[in-house]
Amino acid sequence: MSETTETIFSKIIRREIPADIVYEDDLALAFKDIQPQAPVHILVIPKKPIVNLANAESQDSNLMGHLLLTAKRVAEQAGLTNGYRVVINNGADGGQTVYHLHIHILGGRQMKWPPG
Ligand code: AMP
Repeated sequence: MSETTETIFSKIIRREIPADIVYEDDLALAFKDIQPQAPVHILVIPKKPIVNLANAESQDSNLMGHLLLTAKRVAEQAGLTNGYRVVINNGADGGQTVYHLHIHILGGRQMKWPPG
């Protein structure tokens, strides 16, 4: 899947469905995951509907950096002073289920490795 598609995250950006939004700026939105896998589980997404990491382009480099720094900011805001995990699932083998690029921030418990 490489084409830009409408997803549930587009509806969250447009406020057509509810989400627990914890951060927003011109380029990015962060909201709590609806099925949290840790005490803190927040998703950071670009407002631009990039399908996944594999579909990000060189023209997106500033945006990609912004998303990572937004993840750091949101983790700090959530009080994750003892650490946290940042995950991007890419494509079918990566376990991606929503085809709008998103960064998972997971924290509030000890993470394990390998992630499975
Ligand atoms: P991934 O499997 O990496 O594509 O992650 C998609 C994530 O989106 C999952 O962790 C879902 O629980 C989460 N999710 C799906 N729909 C919603 C929603 N409406 N609000 C918040 N999180 C959602």
